[in-house]
Order: sequence, then structure tokens, then C-alpha cells
Amino acid sequence: MSIKVENLTKIYGSQKAVNDVSFSIKSGEIVGFLGPNGAGKSTTMKILTGFISPTSGKAFVNEKSVATEKLQIQKEIGYLPEHNPLYLEMYVREYLQFCGRVHKIEKKRIEEVITLTGLTLEAHKKIEQLSKGYRQRVGLAAALLHNPEVLILDEPTTGLDPNQLVEIRELIKEIGKTKTILLSTHIMQEVEAVCDRVIIIHKGKLVADQKLKDLREENQQIIQVEFDYKIENVALQKLPNLNKIENPTGSFFYELSFNTQKDMRSEVFDFAQEKGLKILQMNQKLKNLEDLFREATTEKTPTNKA
Ligand code: ADP
Ligand code: MG
Repeated sequence: MSIKVENLTKIYGSQKAVNDVSFSIKSGEIVGFLGPNGAGKSTTMKILTGFISPTSGKAFVNEKSVATEKLQIQKEIGYLPEHNPLYLEMYVREYLQFCGRVHKIEKKRIEEVITLTGLTLEAHKKIEQLSKGYRQRVGLAAALLHNPEVLILDEPTTGLDPNQLVEIRELIKEIGKTKTILLSTHIMQEVEAVCDRVIIIHKGKLVADQKLKDLREENQQIIQVEFDYKIENVALQKLPNLNKIENPTGSFFYELSFNTQKDMRSEVFDFAQEKGLKILQMNQKLKNLEDLFREATTEKTPTNKA
């Protein structure tokens, strides 16, 4: 395992910023750490990189404990912190040389990283002259200098314009071919564009952990259907392959989740006919990351629970 956290908890005052979170990441995976603002992403990442200590629980990078082998771990990870703190008055190459001193990086490696991150034409410029997208490249370059196996990137695309966004995502994907990456974001599309797997965190708790491949192949089908009259859940439960009933608006509108490749619309139609119900509208969709995110991060009140 490249990254492992076990029952990680961080309490600020009376608030649990991270609440009993456990997950592990295999070498070579690109994992999206997804959650709304304030979910606990940055706190988890700061613990993993040894910048803050957990209140309880353990964190490991390449099987080494962050608590006892912090310095060694910092050699094995590259960290792009939230808000990418840079020395704006420095020149790009100068800044990377400055960062490189910590790890005694050779000049040759600095030039390699400048090429890799597409900074060749900007290397002689002052950081303050660069666009946000190019500043992110500088942050990534700094994180990559010591050629770490594991990269921890905290919201690497926040604040970028759409073109810069695409470029930085491409760059991360390219880098990810040879590294393990944990990347935090509050944007679902980012995960779809870049990651192999998603871990969703909400109010400090891990609420979902799924491979995107499985999500795409799961054939989770949602039929949204509106009847002209109320139908009991017990009756709906007779439908084959049904795994969830939701009644989000409380009226005669239902969201029925099925686990099958078969198109369930005709089954629902036959069901309605058998029960003497009319279908006012019906719509089929395949469950995607958006549904997973919505389910994992919205509190259900007792009235709209199936
Ligand atoms: P995210 O990165 O997912 O937006 P954070 O990990 O930054 O979330 O924050 C999680 C929660 O912990 C938030 O409610 C935040 O206000 C709180 N928090 C973070 N850092 C501190 C701190 N140093 N002191 C007190 N509360 C904090
Ligand atoms: Mg954050």
C-alpha cells in the first residue's frame, strides 16, 4: 500500500474535522478525494504529509508511519498544498532551485521537471508574472523535484479557467502514469476526468469509496416514475431487481433503483397496469458519480426515506 490511514480522527475544539476515516491506496492508483468545502480533505492531507498530527488514528506512506518516520516520508511524497503558496517575487527557475535545496536536487533534475511540467518558456519569468494555470505548474514542479513515488495534491485545479483546467488535468494524468496520486477536489467532473477511484468525505466521515470502472459497469439503473395515485412501498418492492425506493418529493413521484442490465421500464409499466395506476411520466437513467455523490452527501429527512 502506498497510502494507508486507519481510524484517523482530528478534533479542533469541539469539532471533529476528520472522524474515524480509514482507507488505503495501492501503488499506481489515481484517487480523487471528493467532498464539499469543509469536509475534512485538507486536514486529512496535512496529517498524511506530517504537517499536523491526528488526534487519534494512524497514517502510513509506503508502509512507514507518519508519526515516527516523518522526515523519511516527506522524501517519498510530493505535496501541493491548498492555495499553492509560492514566493511571487522569485523567478521560476530560481524558486525551483530554492525548493530543490531541501532535497539536494541536481541542476539536471530541475531542468527535467521544468520540461515535464511545460514551464520551459516561463522558467526565466517571475512567478508573479505568471497566470494561475502556470503558477499551478510551478507548484506541481516543486512537488515533483525529488521524484517522489506518491503525490498529494490539494485542490490542484481550483481557480483555474476552463482551458487551464484541461491542461492541468492532462498534466496530472500524464504524471499519474508513473506515480500514486491522491488528489482532493470538490468538483465531481474532475474525478471523472482524472481518477481511477473516488473516496467521498462528508462532514469528516468517509461516505463512499468506489472504483469509477465499477461505477460505470455496475448497471445501476434509476427509473423515475410518477403515478396518478399513491402506491405502498410494500407493493413496489415486488418489482424484480429493485434495490431502493425513494419518494423525494413526497407526492406520487418515485425514484426506483434497480441492479440489472435489463431495461426495467416495461416491468414498471406492466406493474402500473396490474395495480390500476396510470403513469404520468417515466424516465430512465444510469446511476453515475453524480448520483453517488448526491446520495453520499445529502442528509435524508425521515419523510423522504423509502
Ligand atoms: P476541506 O479541505 O474539505 O474543505 P478542511 O479539512 O480544511 O476541509 O476543514 C475541515 C473542517 O475543519 C472545517 O469545518 C474547518 O473549518 C475546520 N478546520 C480546519 N482547520 C482548522 C483549524 N486549524 N482550526 C479549527 N478548525 C479548523
Ligand atoms: Mg481544503
